[in-house]
Amino acid sequence: MKRFLQIDLQFLKDEIKTEAKSLGFSRIGFTNPDGPLHFDTFFDWINNGYAAEMEYLTRPDTIAKRKDPKLILPACKSIIVVAMPYTPSGFEKRDNKFPKIANYAIGDDYHIIIPKLLDKLIKFIVSKVNPVEVEYRVYTDTGPILEKELAQKAGLGWIGKNTCLIIPGKGSFFFLAEILINLPFDPDIKFEKDFCGNCTRCIDSCPTNCILQNRTIDANRCISYLTIENRGSIPEELRKKINGWIFGCDICQQVCPWNIKFSKEPDPNFFQTSESIKKFDIVSDLKIDKSEFKNKYLKSPIYRAKFVGYKRNLLVAAGNNFHPKLVEPIYNILNNDENPELQELAAWVLKNKYE
Ligand code: SF4
Ligand code: SF4
Repeated sequence: MKRFLQIDLQFLKDEIKTEAKSLGFSRIGFTNPDGPLHFDTFFDWINNGYAAEMEYLTRPDTIAKRKDPKLILPACKSIIVVAMPYTPSGFEKRDNKFPKIANYAIGDDYHIIIPKLLDKLIKFIVSKVNPVEVEYRVYTDTGPILEKELAQKAGLGWIGKNTCLIIPGKGSFFFLAEILINLPFDPDIKFEKDFCGNCTRCIDSCPTNCILQNRTIDANRCISYLTIENRGSIPEELRKKINGWIFGCDICQQVCPWNIKFSKEPDPNFFQTSESIKKFDIVSDLKIDKSEFKNKYLKSPIYRAKFVGYKRNLLVAAGNNFHPKLVEPIYNILNNDENPELQELAAWVLKNKYE
């Protein structure tokens, strides 16, 4: 600790903010590791079964870490939270398009891009405090911490009724990332205001009515969960509501006035539409095999749905947006696919068509 006293941490904090911005993180805040805001809301959400089958959220060890980040890094003195915009030129209103993909997934996978930038930021910090040993952990949607809660605590914005972190004047189309670090920076002032006011646009627009009153979501019904994390089938009563979404859903963000306003003046960023999305064709994707899926989507967030989940999504979307060109690949799945769940879905698509 004596060594830290020789470093002007306030000056360093300002330097880190400047460096983070030059790397593309348009918002950055500092907080302490004394636990997130609203942990109880998260705990109730888990206990009420709203996390669906996401067992990585409900394991006792990960719950404990979410409550106390020092269980992840005992030497942690500060948490740096950064936000990077992902919409190339304002968000795309994809609601009239088929198929529909959540805006965050139209670029390359942020799990590949952002850690490299965090690494550069860490190297910058290390170079500034040398020879003090820097202990740290970095996450971007990859570890057991409550990112949005920490972002609010670090002063970035508030958690809207759609459950997203909303940055004033900028909206919610941001990736969040965190650096847990052993340097004792002064925390920034937490964000206390709530600019949702009487607005209920996100709640009113959600196709499956899964946004709950306490700013949480029932994942069991959320299209984002059903088409990404869900490893099972999609309940028949929800299939129609999924409409043309083949990966994720962001209706509750697209309708938010803060995003509509933001889309007119987007922050610059480097997430551009990936080649796999540019070349997307549902007929050929209905025919791809596992290794072709890997080649095409390994660098895309779509890979997270896994091969069977992705085909499942295509079939549900095809059933809701039938076109004659889909007949041949769907019959092929019905007659030849090894997976009974996909065969059942193919039968569902064809039944829909002839009803
Ligand atoms: S992602 Fe879609 S389904 Fe999920 S809460 Fe938002 S609007 Fe509803
Ligand atoms: S749509 Fe309205 S209620 Fe929902 S998050 Fe945005 S401002 Fe808040």
